[in-house]
Amino acid sequence: MEAYIFSLLPKNSFAKQPLRQTDLLFFAVQHHRVQVDAESDGEDAATRSLLRKDETDAQPEDAQAKKGFSAYFTKLTRGRREVESPARSSASAAEPPPAEDISADDIFIAVKTTKKFHQSRLNLLLDTWISRNVQQTYIFTDGEDEELKKKIGSHAINTNCSAAHSRQALSCKMAVEYDKFIESGKKWFCHVDDDNYVNVRTLVKHLSQYPHTQDMYIGKPSLDRPIEATERLGDNKMKPVNFWFATGGAGFCVSRGLALKMSPWASGGHFMNTAEKIRLPDDCTIGYIIESVLGVPLTRSNLFHSHLENLQQVSRSEIHKQITLSYGMFENKSNIINLKGAFPVEEDPSRFKSVHCLLYPDTPWCPPQVAF
Ligand code: UDP
Ligand code: MN
Repeated sequence: MEAYIFSLLPKNSFAKQPLRQTDLLFFAVQHHRVQVDAESDGEDAATRSLLRKDETDAQPEDAQAKKGFSAYFTKLTRGRREVESPARSSASAAEPPPAEDISADDIFIAVKTTKKFHQSRLNLLLDTWISRNVQQTYIFTDGEDEELKKKIGSHAINTNCSAAHSRQALSCKMAVEYDKFIESGKKWFCHVDDDNYVNVRTLVKHLSQYPHTQDMYIGKPSLDRPIEATERLGDNKMKPVNFWFATGGAGFCVSRGLALKMSPWASGGHFMNTAEKIRLPDDCTIGYIIESVLGVPLTRSNLFHSHLENLQQVSRSEIHKQITLSYGMFENKSNIINLKGAFPVEEDPSRFKSVHCLLYPDTPWCPPQVAF
């Protein structure tokens, strides 16, 4: 694994949309549990149980064969041969019939936050989309909060990572997200920031187009070209690598089949080591592992939105079709979706309350009979 040491070359593509230190995805600091060796039988109980679960889902006749990850990967390869490759780009066109009948319970939604945003950001999410999806949502933060615990109990996870906005701290948080997802046994891992609204109904519909055993990495690139990095091969040799990555601020999803393949790079401290050597934000690092190392292409979706794009371009009639939304500042201006909804902008500056009333009009605090 040490062969994959690389660093980012400063590129002018970053001038317009600087990469965010905060956007991240995975990799591991403290992932001793999911250390993977394809030829080894040394998985721990959690890993074994997740293997059993996936084996049961996919190929019951193999369930007793104790072949660890090699067996699992062989099966995935088989699965791939049996399944038509889905379209690479999943835009707003009519969606194909479901490949798998999944429900919200099959999705693990990780929300990254930090203690200082519990009041200002997280409460809004808890009052809106999370309130309808508590069972599948996990909050990854960096400080104790009794109020939060009262609200969602064990779904509030104190990562014990530093609250600093450093690459290390953020990588640390992502590592715990990954770890918890693997432990959960769920079929899909989705990551969002604490300034994202998630339309879980649409998310379920979208993910059900793909078998979770297939290698799927779904999200929206934040750059209009592949990122260019340098892979150091260990003996002072350098190799340029180009790859796409899904921006963490728009949210993205990874199938379980693919997440398991990432384990050698996402667990047992490999993530932290790699992240330190390459100095890339974790969402880029995820893209690198998936596209460059594992050779799995990013499936683009225009249904994920970060505040790095102009959110005014999301048309009102299409809001219910989006998977994620966001709000924030862009080029010193407030960047929010254009929605004349249940609440005026002064009362609902993110527009999330209005979106929520559009999607769930039966919410008690939504004004009745809102004419949108
Ligand atoms: N964040 C964090 N620790 C920090 C600052 C931010 O975990 O010290 C999280 C924050 O909660 C959010 C994500 O990182 O989920 C992105 O932060 P923010 O939206 O402030 O920055 P931007 O989107 O501009 O990168
Ligand atoms: Mn943000």
